[in-house]
Amino acid sequence: MKNSDAPAVEGYIHSVETFGAVDGPGLRYIVFVQGCPLRCIYCHNPDSWKMSDGKKTTSAEVVKDIEEYYAFIRHGGVTVSGGEPLMQPEFTADIFRRCKELGLHTALDTSGSAEYHTALKVLKYTDLVLLDIKAFDPELYTAVTGAAKDKGKLLLELCEKLAIKVWIRHVVLPGYTADKTHIESLAEYLSGFSCIEKTEPIAFHKMGEYKWKNSGKDYKLYDTAPPDEAVMDGIREIFRSKGLKL
Ligand code: SF4
Repeated sequence: MKNSDAPAVEGYIHSVETFGAVDGPGLRYIVFVQGCPLRCIYCHNPDSWKMSDGKKTTSAEVVKDIEEYYAFIRHGGVTVSGGEPLMQPEFTADIFRRCKELGLHTALDTSGSAEYHTALKVLKYTDLVLLDIKAFDPELYTAVTGAAKDKGKLLLELCEKLAIKVWIRHVVLPGYTADKTHIESLAEYLSGFSCIEKTEPIAFHKMGEYKWKNSGKDYKLYDTAPPDEAVMDGIREIFRSKGLKL
């Protein structure tokens, strides 16, 4: 049975972007799925948290739309982002499976919030993982995400074992993850993985602030400014000094 003959899987999406250029190599179709188990204090998409707020669709419908853009993305690919794609593992896996059948490159943009066996279902059809490492220190991880256990590092270990390429993202948040000692520990840890192709320190920004304000959610960062360029340069230098590519 060809993959496309398999029954479609239902899922919830937040939105799509048809010409994405930053979430993976080349020009990409990005599917933002709905639902996230984390509650990051800097989240710029808090409207993606609740699964039931999303649009119900199927993997076949999503890939039918992707096919409309095939000529533009055939040298780039498809990225499933979120929310958290691993919260809908069957849906995400089936989108990727259908994309692979079309010969398209697949990238999973995730914080790794899933158990091994769940992640495996999706990784089977994944060419590249864009892994958002929230924090190196477990207490800091909880302060930033509200979650008790960091599963992102487990996903990184799994990618190393399966030889799946990884791009690391890390949001630099003053007062939390911008601390030099923390960044040094993180860089040291990451330097032990040969699956990591690239690292991207990302400066915290205020673009999602209005969504917190509009929803009445408790936002803790109204008085926190984005890190300045000197801080970001210092962080990039630490990453480079540990042999990590940017
Ligand atoms: S993992 Fe992403 S979508 Fe989920 S709360 Fe954090 S920043 Fe928001």
